[in-house]
Amino acid sequence: MNLSQKLDVLTAPGELYEKLDNNALRCFACGHRCLIREGKRGICQVRFNASGELRVPFGYVAALQADPIEKKPFYHFLAGENALSFGMLGCDLHCDYCQNWFTSQALRDPASEGAGRLVREVSAKGLVELAKQTDSKIIASTYNEPLITSEWAVAVFKEAQKAGLKTVMVSNGHATPEVLEYLAPHLDGYKIDLKSMQQKNYRQLGGTLQHVLDSIVRAKELGLWVEVVTLVVPDFNDSNAELWDTARFLASVSPDIPWHVTAYHRDYKMTENEDTPLDTLVRAADMGREAGLRYVYAGNVHGRASEYESTFCPSCQRPLIKRIGFSLRHYQLTNGGKCPHCGAAVAGVWAENPASVPLNSRGVPRII
Ligand code: SF4
Repeated sequence: MNLSQKLDVLTAPGELYEKLDNNALRCFACGHRCLIREGKRGICQVRFNASGELRVPFGYVAALQADPIEKKPFYHFLAGENALSFGMLGCDLHCDYCQNWFTSQALRDPASEGAGRLVREVSAKGLVELAKQTDSKIIASTYNEPLITSEWAVAVFKEAQKAGLKTVMVSNGHATPEVLEYLAPHLDGYKIDLKSMQQKNYRQLGGTLQHVLDSIVRAKELGLWVEVVTLVVPDFNDSNAELWDTARFLASVSPDIPWHVTAYHRDYKMTENEDTPLDTLVRAADMGREAGLRYVYAGNVHGRASEYESTFCPSCQRPLIKRIGFSLRHYQLTNGGKCPHCGAAVAGVWAENPASVPLNSRGVPRII
């Protein structure tokens, strides 16, 4: 049995589509809005038209870990807690520098054919049970692109909500208004990659910039907690002009959006560009602050940019959360998520009981 045959069995009827004439359909789980004729597949390859019905991935995971929530990264969402993190296979983009390409490019890159051996059948209730066993207060749909498996994510999130867990997605944000509205009642946090401010770069990655910009605005309007990541890649998106554009756009949506500028390292097909120098990240982070963003972080630098790994009070500027890598060393917020010194609110989703926030964990993922 090849990979597509194996995955086609692990599917369920989709919900994010409309029927068209002649047994065709249009999927709107991501910004591609594929027109899929009978017997054909969408661009992501994992959603397909069977006799006029959309079949979508369901009931399996291809990666499963208990990760520090800081690894996603979310820095303002139940800081210090674990997220039971599951991924499936497939993506709607094809980024040359993808660090999860083996699972994300399944069915799109023949080199991923072996990803089928990672597949494990599991139920939504089973994942919630694993969250409890791993002391995870959050469930995350992550690793591959979760928008293209939104029906499965919602099935898991409904069970998670019944158990009192929070839910997040780690996404490229190449969404549609319909999928965001479908997810919103069951989703608490949404991490979006803003990979570039140039459409020509998004075309190279296989997507459309405007869909991502619109999704950041829409996710905020829907009341989701949003954090944004920009992987800063030399000679791709690291010019001053582009970084300013990114920072100013985010500040115009909300100065409370945490912006993570993270370091690229050579991976997959992009092996020419140099790894991101630390001073480039600090330059980007400085621009974020100057543009008016209250919370700017440098990622993938593990202790080398401590000023940009901590959270400061937006009013009195005192340090309130100190991190080293994915581990919290100090946590000083009050139970209302406020600065204990001046009383200013720090935007985010915070622990109700600050004394329960885990400090000095090893800050490493646990494979399950
Ligand atoms: S999820 Fe996106 S790429 Fe996949 S079929 Fe739907 S619209 Fe096409």
